Amino acid sequence: MQNYQLFSGNPLDRAEKERRDENWIQKQLNLSSSKFLVLANFDDEDAGLKVLISPLSKQLIWINNEFIKFNKLEKPPVFLGFFEDISYFYIDISERNDLVRLLDNVENQAFYLIRSAAEILSLSNSGIVAQAVAQLNWHENHNFCSYCGNRNIIQRGGQSRICVSCNRHHFPRTDPVVITVVSSGEYCLLGQSRGRMTRGSFYSALAGFVDQGETIEEAVAREVMEESGIHVSDIKYLFSQPWPFPYSLMIGCHATANTTLINKDDEEMNDVQWFSRERIQKALLEPDSDLILPGSIAIAHHLIKSWAFKE
Ligand SMILES: [Zn+2]
Repeated sequence: MQNYQLFSGNPLDRAEKERRDENWIQKQLNLSSSKFLVLANFDDEDAGLKVLISPLSKQLIWINNEFIKFNKLEKPPVFLGFFEDISYFYIDISERNDLVRLLDNVENQAFYLIRSAAEILSLSNSGIVAQAVAQLNWHENHNFCSYCGNRNIIQRGGQSRICVSCNRHHFPRTDPVVITVVSSGEYCLLGQSRGRMTRGSFYSALAGFVDQGETIEEAVAREVMEESGIHVSDIKYLFSQPWPFPYSLMIGCHATANTTLINKDDEEMNDVQWFSRERIQKALLEPDSDLILPGSIAIAHHLIKSWAFKE
């Protein structure tokens, strides 16, 4: 069974104790050994957040603090953690087109969309990207205090924000999402959501956010019922995946169907179908245009595969 997923395997020590000291963070920022990952959201043919990598060596590109000081970056770097006595940060240079162009033009390095980068990078590097991107997304969405509406400023090197008016602390959040392959004997249930995921014959496992006051098992049963009208039991957790779009945790499960009659949610789902194990195996082994399953970047791929091949 595949028990690791892309965007996991981050080797950094997040330095929970050390980062409480603002002076310690400042000291790390000024060390010439500290390294900085570069993220940027800029307009080119592929819109979206990108990360600077070396596609040839399949590694992240890290820059040093001289570059940051010299170019007078406005946004504060965010501390990710340390590894073998070196401190690692990320910086967001979205507002500096001049630097984006400069870094993008260096030989053997380029900005890649996050998903594309994750498919190129080593597993541990993809884990660092997941942490950096989820943190950046959270900071972008929490510039203002949710209690009083005043400005929130970064603390603990980016591990929290504090309101300048009411002093309330705000901590990064992770949104849990259950994703489930439901099976009935030699058949499994896959669906096609409306909107962005509606692509011809693309089918995936059913998924949805865990609601408040709900266990993982209850969320699986409710989501499957809402999207397909199928009752399930025997819900088993298999593995999980950090999914930094914007800051989710995918919780992968298998479940057994107690019923087979599909009654889909027309608003949310374009289609829901039972597929035979044989058909799923074929689509996994020899991808064809009649049934397109999620690629190996996504946990859904591994959940479907582990059911199809009884791994
Ligand atoms: Zn406030």
